[in-house]
Amino acid sequence: MNPFLELGIREEVVNAISELGFEKPSEIQEKAIPVLLTGNDDFVGLAQTGTGKTAAFGLPLLEQLDFSQKHPQALILCPTRELCLQISKDLEKFAKYVDNVHVVAVYGGANISDQLRQIRRGVQIVVATPGRMLDIIGRNAIDFSKVKYVVLDEADEMLNMGFKEDINSILSETPDEKKTWLFSATMPSEVRRIAKNYMTDPVELTVGTKNTGNANIEHHYYLIKAKDKYAAFKRIVDSNPDIFGIVFCRTKIETQDIAEALIKDGYNADSLHGDLSQQQRDKVMKRYRDRSLQLLIATDVAARGIDVSDVTHVINFSLPDETENYTHRSGRTARAGKTGISLSLVNVKELSKIRHLEKIIGKPFEKKQVPQGAEVCEKQLFSIVKKIENVEVNDEQISPFLPAIMENLESLSKEDIIKRFASLEFNRFLDYYKNAPDLNIEAREGSREDRGDRRDGRSREGSKGYTRLFMNLGSVDEFSRGDMLGFICNNANISGKSIGKIDLKGVFTFFEVQDAEVEKVFQGFQGVDYNGRQVRIEVSGEAKSEGRGRSRGGDRGGRREGGYRGGDRGGRREGGYGGGDRGGRREGGFSGERRDRGSSNGGGFRDFSGKRKESKSKY
Ligand code: AMP
Repeated sequence: MNPFLELGIREEVVNAISELGFEKPSEIQEKAIPVLLTGNDDFVGLAQTGTGKTAAFGLPLLEQLDFSQKHPQALILCPTRELCLQISKDLEKFAKYVDNVHVVAVYGGANISDQLRQIRRGVQIVVATPGRMLDIIGRNAIDFSKVKYVVLDEADEMLNMGFKEDINSILSETPDEKKTWLFSATMPSEVRRIAKNYMTDPVELTVGTKNTGNANIEHHYYLIKAKDKYAAFKRIVDSNPDIFGIVFCRTKIETQDIAEALIKDGYNADSLHGDLSQQQRDKVMKRYRDRSLQLLIATDVAARGIDVSDVTHVINFSLPDETENYTHRSGRTARAGKTGISLSLVNVKELSKIRHLEKIIGKPFEKKQVPQGAEVCEKQLFSIVKKIENVEVNDEQISPFLPAIMENLESLSKEDIIKRFASLEFNRFLDYYKNAPDLNIEAREGSREDRGDRRDGRSREGSKGYTRLFMNLGSVDEFSRGDMLGFICNNANISGKSIGKIDLKGVFTFFEVQDAEVEKVFQGFQGVDYNGRQVRIEVSGEAKSEGRGRSRGGDRGGRREGGYRGGDRGGRREGGYGGGDRGGRREGGFSGERRDRGSSNGGGFRDFSGKRKESKSKY
């Protein structure tokens, strides 16, 4: 008997999930489904992404709800649009053979009228991101009085992203007697508090060890000089010809820069970040899922909730600011029982972060050597040989040409022909990696070698004549740098020219203001609220933790006006993407056609008014 049937899932649903390849329940499903099917308990499930959480709560929901009724009976809150769409699509797939199941995905950055229309037509399951859900509640457009189940998915992420108040407001719209099911990869005290405030004696389940990443993920790190980061990254990619990876950066600017450099170098890469429109995001994701892209360069926020199978490598081009994000990043690989590698490119001063991460994931990182040029060439050669061996020959199409081909190659021996075919691609690697230096460094941990990567001589605390300020709003509040510029100027009543670099982070922002205008900023923001939060301005470094007070590379995002591709690229970055290790080495790309694009994604600022835009991406 099918194990899902044994768990109590109805046949129609089992048929649908069998088609999706679910043969037996994952650990969280096996443990959670029997509890949730009783419908009597609140529930806390500690599970990483990729463990099969969606079905763990989705299948019981399909058993519990009354689909002859068309009012909302279940509300699923999740942190990102991507996850919201993923969950609603998954539920629809699970319910493929069940009649009258209506699921609506409610998320920001998409047309609200369509969502309202779907709600009006009647839905039983609402999957939502908190911001848009509140918006819809505010319009009195939904009735949650008959909700029986609320699922808080990736609760830790929702709190990380500052949705706590929103969640409180939304939950207060639902009946007291509903059951709440909370899923979280980690259990920080804020999540505990939510569990305590909103649940009664929840059944708690942990899948895998607390805070421990997926056991199928290998964690590697490469120790290199900061300036060699891009070159090392490319070597690693080149020595893994079949790589299908997600490359994580800390800032939108960095994702764009790396994607551009990679594209110029002939790789199939593109970036995914918060400045893209929904349409652009969908396009990038489609290309990635279709494998037209081999490398997806993403920010943490943009990549959350991405569920693409068979991601072979997660590459931490920059380590995340928040250590918890490391688990989220690495969880993009090794999904559904597969294996994967999460690798990090670090310089000496970042070694302590690796040690810290080892503690968090409860597993040592393996130190790997950046391959030498010759090794890369060997890997590529054998990859070419394998491709030649496995290529599908279309006899019908090629046979008319064969006599001419044979005639041309007549004078060559079999061995010569083989050598030449293999050399077609291989020569490029040989040329490129000829005289390539060793990029590895051996570190005495904690040594000061490799420090002080800033070459511009600027102090970390702001350019000359400017004061660096901190604000407690950032990209998760749906600000682009342009929005932020407008927001500051409007409130402080100063000109945009008085603002220097704006370094937009997830939940906060650093920005520079001409010394003479600093006071105006403090005055202008006195008592200003943004979405119910009091806006807080501080001089950077005064009251912040180390991590906040110091700039960490995001500084390079400070270019304004000319957009992201201004003329001031030269010498601005550590690794020097334009450096010697790149030089237009090939035309066709190693694994597909080269995509020549001038500027793919957004670029520039969109709005100096400081108004929030409905269509803007949160991540
Ligand atoms: P989730 O943690 O819900 O995002 O699921 C991660 C991935 O595992 C998704 O691609 C699911 O379709 C897949 N999956 C979930 N449960 C199972 C199962 N029992 N068997 C096979 N694949 C599954």
